[in-house]
Amino acid sequence: VKYVYFFGNGKAEGDGSDKNLLGGKGAGLAEMTNLGIPVPPGFTITTEACIAYQKNKTYPEGMWEQTLEALKKLEETTKKKFGSNENPLLVSVRSGARVSMPGMMDTILNLGLNDETVKGLATSSNNERFAYDSYRRFIQMFSNVVLGVEHSKFEKLISEVKKGKGYSLDTDLTAEDWKGLVEKFKALVLNETGKPFPQDVMEQLKLAINAVFDSWDNQRAKTYRKINKIPDDWGTAVNVVAMVFGNMGNDSGTGVAFTRNPSTGEKEFFGEFLINAQGEDVVAGIRTPEPIARLKDEMPGVFAQLEEVYKKLESHYKDMQDIEFTVEKGVLYMLQTRSGKRTARAAVKIAYDMYKEGLIDKKTAVLRVAPEQVDQLLHPMIDPKEKYTSIAKGLPASPGAAVGRVVFTADDAESWAAKGEKVILVRDETSPEDIGGMHAAEGILTATGGMTSHAAVVARGMGKCCIVGCGAIHIDEEEKVFTVGNITVKEGDYITINGSTGEVILGKVKLVEPELSGEFAEILSWADEFRKLGVRTNSDTPHDSKVAREFGAEGIGLCRTEHMFFEGDRIDAVREMILANTEEERRKALAKVKPYQKEDFKGIFKAMDGFPVTIRLLDPPLHEFIPHTDEDIQKVANASGIPFDVLKKKRDELHEFNPMLGHRGCRLGITFPEIYEMQVYAIMEAACEVAKEGVKVYPEIMIPLVGHYKELEMLREMTVRVADEVMKQYGITLKYLVGTMIELPRAALTADEIAQYAEFFSFGTNDLTQTTLGLSRDDSGKFLPFYVEKGIYKEDPFVSLDVNGVGQLVEMGVTKGRKTRPDLKTGICGEHGGDPASIFFCHKVGLNYVSCSPYRVPVARLAAAHAAL
Ligand code: ADP
Ligand code: MG
Ligand code: MG
Repeated sequence: VKYVYFFGNGKAEGDGSDKNLLGGKGAGLAEMTNLGIPVPPGFTITTEACIAYQKNKTYPEGMWEQTLEALKKLEETTKKKFGSNENPLLVSVRSGARVSMPGMMDTILNLGLNDETVKGLATSSNNERFAYDSYRRFIQMFSNVVLGVEHSKFEKLISEVKKGKGYSLDTDLTAEDWKGLVEKFKALVLNETGKPFPQDVMEQLKLAINAVFDSWDNQRAKTYRKINKIPDDWGTAVNVVAMVFGNMGNDSGTGVAFTRNPSTGEKEFFGEFLINAQGEDVVAGIRTPEPIARLKDEMPGVFAQLEEVYKKLESHYKDMQDIEFTVEKGVLYMLQTRSGKRTARAAVKIAYDMYKEGLIDKKTAVLRVAPEQVDQLLHPMIDPKEKYTSIAKGLPASPGAAVGRVVFTADDAESWAAKGEKVILVRDETSPEDIGGMHAAEGILTATGGMTSHAAVVARGMGKCCIVGCGAIHIDEEEKVFTVGNITVKEGDYITINGSTGEVILGKVKLVEPELSGEFAEILSWADEFRKLGVRTNSDTPHDSKVAREFGAEGIGLCRTEHMFFEGDRIDAVREMILANTEEERRKALAKVKPYQKEDFKGIFKAMDGFPVTIRLLDPPLHEFIPHTDEDIQKVANASGIPFDVLKKKRDELHEFNPMLGHRGCRLGITFPEIYEMQVYAIMEAACEVAKEGVKVYPEIMIPLVGHYKELEMLREMTVRVADEVMKQYGITLKYLVGTMIELPRAALTADEIAQYAEFFSFGTNDLTQTTLGLSRDDSGKFLPFYVEKGIYKEDPFVSLDVNGVGQLVEMGVTKGRKTRPDLKTGICGEHGGDPASIFFCHKVGLNYVSCSPYRVPVARLAAAHAAL
């Protein structure tokens, strides 16, 4: 088996396509060599060798022999000798996995130095200071990486010398100073490890290779892989590269750069360099590097060469590159190239520009922008230039950032906001009654709850910054304070919350507004050319509908009528309806609610002119609409004139042990047909009225929580009857659909029966996940994170669809439904509709559309395109 691949003299045994075998760094070095770009020669030991070594900590057969052969070739190429006392070859030993794992694994520079070879280096370079600087660097790195001696212990010794001599910079140290430090370093190693620093260069090489192999399995690397979902069996390659020296004087140096600006995407060479330094100095932050543009003044020749190389690399890889280079006595060497990490903003700009430059095609441009990433672009965020420290961290439930004064009740949020104050609503958790306050607040912070708690779902729907489950804060609603450790935050104090990271910060931090740039809009329109899935939005108000249209939503996939019940004084009429004891009383109360609903529907239909609007009839259990604590009951009693006792009795009557599986959804429509009837009247009257004004309206009436086809059969009959009556009354015929949500396992299992009465299915995967997994989403916050941490579920199943379980029911629902009704329209309207991985699944099973909150619409458009490409 070939375990070692050589590169040098303009020819490499491997190339850029061998990333899996050579690692990203090795493949890049090989590719650059083949392109005729100056790279110091060297060789790569494959990831396969690493995997084989991991099994029983011995090299696979032939690996060491091949290594020695390559080393010989390296000596011939460089005309230097490893371990020579006259003209020693020094190498770097560098890790490099398939994907870059920044800072996780190790690199050793200047290997091959010992007490003898260092003298050779001093003579051959005619530079004693350089030789001993290199030697001390080597001892420092090798001892740290291979022997486990703490870096800081060496730094301390250096500081002592600097202090004693009154130096401020490392570059002030003389040859003699470094010589003295080398002795101190060796003594330190002997003291720390009980053994002298290894002088045998072959032993050094072997130990270094082992250390790089072993670093694949150090705790840091393991954790990093887990977080970033990198398989454990990829292994790392080892790159042994002839050293070139940036620390040979003021005509030498080292730097890192990006071929375009990684933060803005601007087409400009961007980076930093240090004169008279080796690679690690730039990252270590010991000296402050200079902006790359200065290199043009200091070394114009080198800069011109570097410019040529970076342009060549970018047009070869057709992507923005992150490069590392070293200059030895005015000669440029490239040491690494890889596609550079970038912000969402930069990703968009670079993809757009590269398409316009003819470097990449449209498809590639669309694929270059990650759907998860663009969410960043749609919310205000903390100015990246700001420095801050957080006092607590919760779950990042809804991205963006917000600054405001702390309030502890929804009412306060509304009244403060009405006075023009910006507020952050801080609560243990939120409930539907808090909607108004949430709307008024800049952001929401809760102490409990998970990523799909009420606060999280509603905030995401509103596109409002939100942190939930921030267990470190303790709220005292009475005193109107919250505490974190010994910090107390009072009502009215300013805080800043970062919903993208979950950080809570004291005081005001500067925010920047999102920019929906022309380029972003353009990329999204390209995405639209490729995607097969429709993208709709979940929206309950005319305002959200407008926002969603601006983001490109092609209709509404879920309009939750109950949210309309809470706005303003409507709740009074709704409560009257709930408290009614007879059908007649109920109808009277419903008649008061109807005009409100009708107005809302008209607004939504107008905003969605030309696009379908799916309206779900009343879904939640009725008790959600009445107050629960005695105190709240008293408040409502005072306001409404309904006696306290009556309210309290009704509350007890409506109490359910398991409301999520209780009297809700179509069960309400079956037992109180007049409620659904009123809603259908409101929908159809609104539709007819706007149609008369010239609006193109496509209502889709959706019955929730159906488990048996007979439920739907009954309610469909009612719906059609009312719809016909209204259309006759207005004298127009509208195209409207009646369909259902598939959110109970029984509905999916009997989808063929249900499809007889449904013209569309919308998979309500929030409830379908709850009911399939038998997992309450409101209670799961206490243990689900633990499940995810332990890998039982790879991802919170309420965030990313459980494809293996719930996914089967979705697929079955589609297949069975279409067997009965081939033109059945299918969509998804759970939280999953905005999750890229779930969207991939929806594309695969052939749904017609996904529906998500307005601010996720661009994400969904892009994800749907990625799924199709
Ligand atoms: P990382 O993966 O952490 O970036 P590298 O293996 O790229 O580690 O090494 C870090 C830095 O060390 C490089 O950017 C370069 O400046 C320096 N370096 C590595 N190999 C050599 C070499 N053969 N000659 C000179 N400098 C080197
Ligand atoms: Mg590097
Ligand atoms: Mg539901």
